[in-house]
Amino acid sequence: MYLQDLALKDQKVLVRVDFNVPLDNNFQVSDDTRIRAALPTIQYILAAGGSVILMSHLGRPQKKLKDDGTVDKERFSLKHIVDHLSKCVGKVVKFVADTTGEEVEKVAANLQAGEILLLENTRFYKEEKKGDESFAQALAKLADVYINDAFGTAHRAHASTCTVAQYFGQDKKGFGFLIRKELEEAEKLNNDPARPFTAIVGGAKVSDKIVLLEKLLDNVDTILVGGGMAYTFWKAKGGKIGNSLVEMERLEAANTILAKAAEKNVEIILPVDSVVADKFDNEANNKVMPSDEIEEGWMGLDIGTTAQVTFVDAIAKAKTIFWNGPMGVFELSTFSKGTEKVAEAVVKATENGAFSLVGGGDSVAAINKLGKAEAISHISTGGGAVLKLLEGSVLPGIEAIKKS
Ligand code: AMP
Repeated sequence: MYLQDLALKDQKVLVRVDFNVPLDNNFQVSDDTRIRAALPTIQYILAAGGSVILMSHLGRPQKKLKDDGTVDKERFSLKHIVDHLSKCVGKVVKFVADTTGEEVEKVAANLQAGEILLLENTRFYKEEKKGDESFAQALAKLADVYINDAFGTAHRAHASTCTVAQYFGQDKKGFGFLIRKELEEAEKLNNDPARPFTAIVGGAKVSDKIVLLEKLLDNVDTILVGGGMAYTFWKAKGGKIGNSLVEMERLEAANTILAKAAEKNVEIILPVDSVVADKFDNEANNKVMPSDEIEEGWMGLDIGTTAQVTFVDAIAKAKTIFWNGPMGVFELSTFSKGTEKVAEAVVKATENGAFSLVGGGDSVAAINKLGKAEAISHISTGGGAVLKLLEGSVLPGIEAIKKS
């Protein structure tokens, strides 16, 4: 089931990686975190005497079609990352400008032990997202062994992340080092976590996090709720929230969560005050107000100064921390303070011995902005996937490997 359990000598190993990296205007890789994250798996296969056939998606080529309605194969080509990848691995990486088909089959068939081939963007084909069986079969026939190491897409039932696995026997498929680590670290939150266990949940909407919040109630001692979703809770409690983000159809769900938390003795801490603004704009007029007394014409865009102190204090006491989602509109500097304070507090608590797991674009960005990524116990490479994992949902990319 894991890479280390499989026989790899002289085997062609098809590896699904997540090379969905940002490119600058000159098509140079501007952040190679995801490439570096896949290196242990690649190096291990090469050292074990196998050859590596890499496949990944890059961007959303089916959503950003050219004016003539075709896929922009120049902009979204994985050819842009070949040189960078070669440098990272310390070896020439071969590239074929297609994902399946005759040319790919020819190069794959001639691949020698110790060699690496990168296939073109899997999402050039509509079949990828549909989890199409013929497309998956065409990929499967290139190799003897299948390894999934793309945690960021493990919650998607795509051809290269899920369907393809069914064409490999149980002793011919497994997880790479990256997925293994993600699973093990997430398991630490479920497996007798040190207490108090504090979850910090933020972001725009309650609707995206309801299942997560319900699940967390079974396991945590405290939940700090920040971001836009906090106002749906305040509204549900009868507060005045002005023009803040609210999901009226989730008021009942918010009340249910609050009631269940009380039943289970879980403390849910909402931000008592907010930085409110008269526009969704970095230059808008702003002031700090109680979160349940926001006047019409004003909207809460960050947790307030008192809430910051309360949140920081709760985090300082925690021995286990899970954080997903910003405390405010982190993209606008005027409303990024709450998220920054939380990031600092999580780093400090970890330095004092807590276990911390951070997942999700903005929360990870806030930690990176402090230059403190290495201080966190585990930074997840998949925001969506880690949420699904902690929700207890089935991740198709994970299940497909476990199924025989
Ligand atoms: P999510 O993808 O659910 O983690 O949400 C992240 C988004 O939530 C970011 O783009 C933030 O700008 C947004 N957000 C956070 N707090 C607020 C808020 N108080 N009002 C509106 N949007 C918010």
